Amino acid sequence: VAYACAAAAAGAAAVSLWSYRRRKRQRTRLSIAEGYTGLIGNTPMVRLHSLSDATGCDIFAKVEFLNPGGTGKDRLAAAMIEAAEAAGLLKPGGTVVEGTSGSTGISLASICRARGFRCVIVMPDDQAGEKKAMLETLGATVVQVKTAAIASPEHYVNAARRIAAETLGAVFMDQFETSANFNVHYARTAPEIWSQTGGALDAFVMGAGTGGSIAGVSAYLKERRRGIRVYLVDPPGSSLFNRVKFGVCYAAQQAERAVRRHRYDTLAEGIGLDRVTANFAKATIDDAFAISDQEAVTMAHYLLRHEGLLLGSSSAMNAAGAVKAARQLGSGHTIVTVLCDHGARYASRFWNRAFVEGRGLQWPEPDQLLSLDFV
Ligand code: PMP
Repeated sequence: VAYACAAAAAGAAAVSLWSYRRRKRQRTRLSIAEGYTGLIGNTPMVRLHSLSDATGCDIFAKVEFLNPGGTGKDRLAAAMIEAAEAAGLLKPGGTVVEGTSGSTGISLASICRARGFRCVIVMPDDQAGEKKAMLETLGATVVQVKTAAIASPEHYVNAARRIAAETLGAVFMDQFETSANFNVHYARTAPEIWSQTGGALDAFVMGAGTGGSIAGVSAYLKERRRGIRVYLVDPPGSSLFNRVKFGVCYAAQQAERAVRRHRYDTLAEGIGLDRVTANFAKATIDDAFAISDQEAVTMAHYLLRHEGLLLGSSSAMNAAGAVKAARQLGSGHTIVTVLCDHGARYASRFWNRAFVEGRGLQWPEPDQLLSLDFV
């Protein structure tokens, strides 16, 4: 009898240990993501101590380069594809078409691979060859068109719209104009920022590529607290700074934009606009900072030197804007900005000494990185 009791007790213990392990496994598995899109979002936020200590503010950065595609554009790409599926426009085996010279193409191509959609990316012919090669590796069909102004039917965005209209089962994503862009940043990026800071932030600082991020985030934050200030960061050649500061876009500047290409205006990639997109129009902006290419280059080296972070140009411009905001607000404030993507993506341009010096800019010396005097 004693033997049977001991065996039963051991059996019960084994069963309870087994069910305990199973419950534990299930709990642990709640944190396992479902595929590529399951990895998007919930990015961490980091305190940039080198900027915070020098300004007397808390300067926090949302680390968007930790999305699976290495860019915050993952959020946008997934949102546009899901919106097209929900609207019944994109069906299994369908084709996603977008005009993009930047990160949105990489995110779209990756998600299309994961979900079994075809992907056509239309880009201007003046883009670095490695971008085309990367998109093709990801499985996209790349169509290169002549570089043209946005008003021209040859412009890559207009060409993409046309290709989508002419292709059976294809959907044009339209990142600059679609409300899915604003919506995803309002519904996901902004609430993450709000909860990570416990709502205790005084300002948000960022550049605009399509305008979706700054618009969605500013709308959400200002609904929660109207006093939160939103600052736009703008690179050379973009018309947004003048629009925000003076409410105008000079006719001469506009005419010049019709013929000049953005890549000759600035080293910055991913931000700057020569027009007000539907997404940017929804942004509520209090003030703007024009950031020079030299400030961006030196800031990128400063952040590498002091934080160990190798960042892209738009992240460096955002960080420079955060420092300017800190100086305008005074010490004791909390300022949030965004690290959009990693510097490794720009090894042949922004992080290439010969390229940077060839643009008449200075490759910073170590002793220039000891203070923030360059901002
Ligand atoms: N620059 C880069 C490199 C980006 O990935 C992003 C988007 N996270 C931005 C800028 C901001 O772009 P948008 O205005 O289109 O939201």
